[in-house]
Amino acid sequence: MAETPAEAIAHDDVCPICHLLLFDPVRTRCNHILCASCMAQWADTTALSNIIPSRLDLNLSDFSPDYVAAIHAEANCPMCRTLTTASPDTTLKTALAQRYPLTYEERRVEELALRAAVAGSGHGTEGMVILIGNKHRIDRAAENRNTHDWTWFLRCSRPDLIEEVRVSLHDSFRPPQLTLRAPPFEVHRWGWGSFTVKANVVLKEPYSWITDGNSAATRNPVITLDWTLSFEGRGNQGRVRAKVRKILEDPHDDGRASPVAWPHMEADHV
Ligand SMILES: [Zn+2]
Ligand SMILES: [Zn+2]
Repeated sequence: MAETPAEAIAHDDVCPICHLLLFDPVRTRCNHILCASCMAQWADTTALSNIIPSRLDLNLSDFSPDYVAAIHAEANCPMCRTLTTASPDTTLKTALAQRYPLTYEERRVEELALRAAVAGSGHGTEGMVILIGNKHRIDRAAENRNTHDWTWFLRCSRPDLIEEVRVSLHDSFRPPQLTLRAPPFEVHRWGWGSFTVKANVVLKEPYSWITDGNSAATRNPVITLDWTLSFEGRGNQGRVRAKVRKILEDPHDDGRASPVAWPHMEADHV
């Protein structure tokens, strides 16, 4: 048995949900502070996000590597019940780790054990951020009318879970269908008109996308993300917050689940 650390925890540094020292604190827009995992657990029941228009300079590195979909998703604050989002408070995290070195380390070990247990059980939900969009520039020297130099892209915080991305371009491109098996998931072309790029994002076995309305027992390895190329300025992007889970296949199932389409979105200007 580990000895109880002799550190007295100030009231303000205790999580209002688990009543332990705050670990990986997140701050809600309504200014409540709680553990990232406590917020995640609370918000886990909220629905999956659609494609949300985002600034083009937003990078995957802007998201925590320990990203949990639920933390960033809109949820009702467990403290005051207003609809809110939470973001990591790294300043407080550093301060807590310095103020309570023993307790903070103890909390870290607990959290890791908890995460390992959840992941190992196969029931754990993992979060994923997908950025989808296109870069664009006008190529004055281009032949014919193909002056739009565009690069469609899909970036994902968990590329290790992606089996492949099947991209469908306009029929006038040769070939119109491409399968990208490793990052970067990008297609660079010249063209004269905008169209909708359709991407089927396929997860490795045994992962499944968690979507509203798909049953917990059926593995759903494919989602479809539509992106209409934006020829405004430098391009545009949107983000999707998705959740995945390991699902062990029923041996009698043919495994061909139908793709789930996300609501289509037109990009806003950057
Ligand atoms: Zn907590
Ligand atoms: Zn609140």
